[in-house]
Amino acid sequence: MSADYTVIIGLEVHTQLKTQSKLFCGCPNLFNPDHPNTQTCPVCLGLPGALPVMNRHAFDLSVKTALALNCSIPTFTKWDRKQYYYPDLPKAYQISQFDLPMSENGWLEIANDEDGGPVRRIGITRAHLEEDAGKNIHDESGGRGDSCVDLNRTGTPLLEIVSEPDLRSASEARRYLEEMKTLLLFVDVSDCNMQEGSLRCDANVNLHFHNADGSKSATPIVELKNMNSFRNVEMAIEYEVKRQYNEFQKTGKTIEGSTKVTRGWDAEGNRTFAQREKEDVSDYRFLPDPDLVPVVLTEAEIEAVRAALPETPALKRARFQTNLGLSEYDASVIIGQGPGLTQYFESVTTTCGDGKIAANWTTQDVLRDLNATEASVANFPITSEILGTLLKWITDERLTNKSAREVYSLLKDKADSGEISIVDVDALAGEREIVNDTGALEAAITAAIASRPEAVEDVKNGKLQAVGPMMGMVMKQVGGADPKVVREMLIQMIQEL
Ligand SMILES: [Zn+2]
Repeated sequence: MSADYTVIIGLEVHTQLKTQSKLFCGCPNLFNPDHPNTQTCPVCLGLPGALPVMNRHAFDLSVKTALALNCSIPTFTKWDRKQYYYPDLPKAYQISQFDLPMSENGWLEIANDEDGGPVRRIGITRAHLEEDAGKNIHDESGGRGDSCVDLNRTGTPLLEIVSEPDLRSASEARRYLEEMKTLLLFVDVSDCNMQEGSLRCDANVNLHFHNADGSKSATPIVELKNMNSFRNVEMAIEYEVKRQYNEFQKTGKTIEGSTKVTRGWDAEGNRTFAQREKEDVSDYRFLPDPDLVPVVLTEAEIEAVRAALPETPALKRARFQTNLGLSEYDASVIIGQGPGLTQYFESVTTTCGDGKIAANWTTQDVLRDLNATEASVANFPITSEILGTLLKWITDERLTNKSAREVYSLLKDKADSGEISIVDVDALAGEREIVNDTGALEAAITAAIASRPEAVEDVKNGKLQAVGPMMGMVMKQVGGADPKVVREMLIQMIQEL
């Protein structure tokens, strides 16, 4: 690509909040596609005379999320009707927030594209609360099937988080989404299950060209939809950047006054396709919802939520590096796995007293076994207490790393046929305990030296590898000896001959 240009990306993330009931009625907020239209009532069906009442818990979760995203929270916010017709929207309007959203002007920090570069602070324009629509189900069997509507999802609390157009590449967009998901999981407001639609994302993409004559031009903003995985978001943006670039090269300049268009992602064809011209905001005829009172918060209420915020992934990552001595990579791997593994790691660290050793075992052994068995950390037989107890043997210098791996493997085998406990850990580790009885070691080393005069000469002449066979003899004699210690003692005793 010859021309000098910048990729401009903004993301709109929709996340379903983890509440018992829907946003404006008492219907359960459950993913339940097998029993369509069983979680409905006059309010979410939009029947005449039914009146909505705000779910305070959903609002509190939104405030919590917005504060974790460094947003400011106005003390006054109201509800608006966004009016459009669609079969999955029985009221013909969605209750949303228009000009006075519950939060604005925040940011989320993500790692730099270049390894080790400074963190990138991505602006959050606003986050507002709204109700979800239902789901249209189309018969895709190829027969003459009818389309159906399932309204179980109608009225589910949905937090829309709109970023500033601060993202500069497809991979950066993906990293933003990963960090956003991790944050939502740690703040514990959503299960972020993309398959079930509780985390969705649209992307606004266009290119700014810096022309040779000093002028600037831009391609029309395209809103990308239907991307149901982070990988798809990345691929769709990559495709769209190339498409817009080629389009610009053909036409040579910006299409003046063109409206924003929507394009869908076709994951099978690996391409985006035109869907429709995007409605203008004014097309929705937003108006304040007369059925709902505005929400008024006091500064004290906002501060109380802020004070109760859990540690964010960014702060946790920094603490793991500063206080526990973890590498940035290890801290990111652990935290990126979500709250379950992070809590596991922290508990192992507390028990064994060494964050680095805990991190090594968590990121290597534990993660490998979890991935292999597709088990969740909650059901993992080597509990944090068991692993912590085992690693304590290492930090106490009573067990070598090699012996600990043996014990770990034996514990897993044992767990296949029954419960295991820290009693098993101590028993298995005890059998392999490092022998610090220097008397026994010295006797064994003296015997080994006496039986290998030639090797002793070699070691004296600087061929240190000649200690190998003697080490073997000593290790055989003194089962739990630390090979490092044996080697050092052997060399020292030979040199002192
Ligand atoms: Zn309902």
